[in-house]
Amino acid sequence: MNRVSESIPGSFPRGSASESNQIKSPREVEDSPHACRSKAEIPLCGAAGSFNLPVPEKRELFTPGHYGCPGCGAALAMRQTLSVLGEDTIVVMPAGCWSTFIGIYPYSCLTVPVLSVAFASTAAVAAGVKSGLSIQGNDHTTVLAWAGDGGTFDIGLQALSGAVERDEDILFICYDNEAYMNTGIQRSSATPAGGWTTTTPDSARKAQRKKDIVEIMAAHRIPYAATASIGAPADLAEKVQKAKTIRGSRFIHLFASCPTGWRHDPELSLEVARAAVKSRVFPLYEVSEGNVWKESPMPEKEPVDRYLKHQGRFKKLSAVERQQFQKQVDNDWERLLKKCRASG
Ligand code: SF4
Repeated sequence: MNRVSESIPGSFPRGSASESNQIKSPREVEDSPHACRSKAEIPLCGAAGSFNLPVPEKRELFTPGHYGCPGCGAALAMRQTLSVLGEDTIVVMPAGCWSTFIGIYPYSCLTVPVLSVAFASTAAVAAGVKSGLSIQGNDHTTVLAWAGDGGTFDIGLQALSGAVERDEDILFICYDNEAYMNTGIQRSSATPAGGWTTTTPDSARKAQRKKDIVEIMAAHRIPYAATASIGAPADLAEKVQKAKTIRGSRFIHLFASCPTGWRHDPELSLEVARAAVKSRVFPLYEVSEGNVWKESPMPEKEPVDRYLKHQGRFKKLSAVERQQFQKQVDNDWERLLKKCRASG
């Protein structure tokens, strides 16, 4: 385990608990001064203490106060990501929840530079920023393209495909909340089959499967692609750290629960994200150079029902539809394992 993962205990600990992993009571946490401090622990998303995340010793880059919903997984996703990437980062983001809840100029909840760009252009702008930095002799700043599933799977896909085909030296992270949440919970190609949205209501729920964006990225033979989840912060930190050190196009598909759109209690965001990993609805893995597939450490497999049960968007699924959901997850999981085994 490297230094990063030691400082950010995962929801799936690898090895015995160390002293730094000890959980503090809410009272102990309250007694600490708030942000921009070292070694304090801030309770996150009401997860009953088991997900307390130590603030890294370096300066907090996600400051208190933003326009996101309570319990937003995308907020946590950014905080976890920036804690690894550090201050030497430029963020490029299109329309989406993040572009609104960051704040209205001149206010911002991020202390790193942020460019808000046209929906379709994220990867192209990020590539341009990186080129500009290179011309200036700057080869150290990380250019982070940060888009939701709409800005990645759908509207941003053309620019993303072009950028990674050219092997632009950018890190593209898709925070996936499985619909166009910012504009009113409309279906995207990342919405799972059977999921409710305002454009796939219960009378006509989505029939098509979620697009496999990592497989699409892997098909471009980029140096690094991976899945990660806010429910597995140690694994996420390791992958972001790894991506930071690789040159060329890097892509992380980051699962970020959305209590507003998924119709679950805000305090369950981490639990839902963990259940997605455990059930293999959202398995964790990496792909190197497009052809070496590697499963990441995960806890024992659980039934999909434990993932579905908290979410109002799935509450109208019949018993038969739940079985079909389980079967599809099982098939996808077997397919992924085969690719990992074939990679040796
Ligand atoms: S709608 Fe969902 S993703 Fe958007 S800010 Fe609210 S909880 Fe976060």
